[in-house]
Amino acid sequence: MDHRLLDRLRDLHGSLSTDITFVTRMVEDDVPRADVLRDLGERLTDLGAALLRRSEDVDAAVLAKLPADGWLPEAGEHHQALVVAHNVGARPLRCGRVYLAVCGAPCFPFYGRDPSGRTARHERCRTCGDRLFR
Ligand SMILES: [Zn+2]
Repeated sequence: MDHRLLDRLRDLHGSLSTDITFVTRMVEDDVPRADVLRDLGERLTDLGAALLRRSEDVDAAVLAKLPADGWLPEAGEHHQALVVAHNVGARPLRCGRVYLAVCGAPCFPFYGRDPSGRTARHERCRTCGDRLFR
């Protein structure tokens, strides 16, 4: 799926300079071409819609791996960091291997979906709590 999208992006990248040359000539010669504009617009719209659909799929896959309540232990090399849990909000932002909490702290999904509620044993970050329930 991602390879097909990547191919489509590369196709667009490859043809875009030709399109821009066409549009530039159109503007400079003051000879508007509805067909040129429509063709480019449709290609951009189709690809944009495919990218949005894929981003929704990726987001759903991310959400499926996290606890439903959104509380994750803070990431860190020190065991001290494990005592605090943060909330990653309804639409968590994944940055590499960590998820950013609403307060900006990096978090790891140590316990995955956490069905046994182990994250609940950590102290909850007040900043995250305040921002969530304001
Ligand atoms: Zn926090």
